[in-house]
Amino acid sequence: MQLYSTKNSKALVSFKEAVLKGLPDDNGLFMPEFIPVLSKDFLNNLSQYSFKDVALEISGTLLKESIPEQDLEKIIGDAINFPAPVVALDFNFHVLELFHGPSLAFKDFGARFMARTMSYFNKDEDQDLIILVATSGDTGGAVAAGFYNTPGIKVVILYPSGKVSHLQEKQLTTLGNNISALEIQGTFDDCQALVKKAFLDKSLTNKLRLSSANSINIARLIPQAFYYFEAYKQVDQSRDIVFAVPSGNFGNLTAGLLAKKMGLNIAHFIAATNVNKIVPHYLETGHYEPKPSISTISNAMDVGNPSNFARMLDIYSSTWNNMKESISGFSYNDQETKEGIVEVFEKYNYIIDPHGAVAYLAFKDYLHNHPESLGIILETAHPAKFLDVVEPVLNKTIDIPERLANLAHKEKQATLLNTNYQTFKNWLIDNY
Ligand SMILES: *Cc1c(COP(=O)(O)O)cnc(C)c1O
Repeated sequence: MQLYSTKNSKALVSFKEAVLKGLPDDNGLFMPEFIPVLSKDFLNNLSQYSFKDVALEISGTLLKESIPEQDLEKIIGDAINFPAPVVALDFNFHVLELFHGPSLAFKDFGARFMARTMSYFNKDEDQDLIILVATSGDTGGAVAAGFYNTPGIKVVILYPSGKVSHLQEKQLTTLGNNISALEIQGTFDDCQALVKKAFLDKSLTNKLRLSSANSINIARLIPQAFYYFEAYKQVDQSRDIVFAVPSGNFGNLTAGLLAKKMGLNIAHFIAATNVNKIVPHYLETGHYEPKPSISTISNAMDVGNPSNFARMLDIYSSTWNNMKESISGFSYNDQETKEGIVEVFEKYNYIIDPHGAVAYLAFKDYLHNHPESLGIILETAHPAKFLDVVEPVLNKTIDIPERLANLAHKEKQATLLNTNYQTFKNWLIDNY
């Protein structure tokens, strides 16, 4: 597979280069030059395939010139080692649980696959690849868990001291081994500025091989297409199947568009957002108007300029009419989101997290005009990750999954640094 930049369709690079670079030099996004349609035989017999086989068929078709089959088999076997079950609430509502991975969020799929492909492409280098990540909380946890124990790769996570939740901090600081945490006495922006400065510092990049685990890396997008097929195979395929996707940067929804291009018979997509409704507004008016983000209780979707929008436009040849034929947008405020959490619990005895609740509300509204459709709501995180919101709303304690609860007993290991660049640089040089 060759990839082009959304800003220049003529500059093609290999999959290896796209994964290791993350972003094209022109600041566009990498897109596959050609998206193949899967075989009829596979598409018509999905239910006979295991999740791993589904993942292997999709990635094998996309990447057959980039990674030999038995290497890909090993990558998929390691990366996709937890399930993505669909829970049917009733005739219309279904929930796709994407939180069964190590960090309890769907980002585990992307992070684990990206980690293993990076490690694979780095295997002939004699120098370790050092991944620098600035995090405000959630991404860091998935990236840390995803790269844990990955050969040839070291990860340095910078997080703002006192500004991530207790459990998030534990997710970042208790793994050890190839994962190091730097607790920065500053804000998230300070963390990000340190990382940016390091990438631009020639005297540092001459010594160390630095890379980023950017959320728009194409290796994070591809594995997110797997679970659209996996979900589809678990429901009644004779119905009109609609995916409701709680969205921030729109990576998840873009992966669904990729699945559809590869032949999955998806009737419609629902772009569900909180009050950061840049894409629903675009779908409604044809105007794309990025804005500063607004804080909400579904905070992983607090995005004012969605990074994958360029890919969505690219898929629809920048034509508003085409996009709005396949995608409907809906947005909800925090009060509505809380009411959604309560409604799902009272009606179905199911505890949904604030992000999933936004998608639930959106499918419910869509259903008014499409009463026969079968909705699959992407439940992007486990509700226990958002105890502060969900417990008071339901007036109920929530069971914390063992892998999250266990973290409470593990010892935090982090190096406290101030925001001085030279101190950070010296730390990197002394440690790698
Ligand atoms: C990241 C995240 C989202 C948003 O996903 P995008 O791919 O950025 O649209 C939604 N829910 C949760 C829990 C997340 O962590």
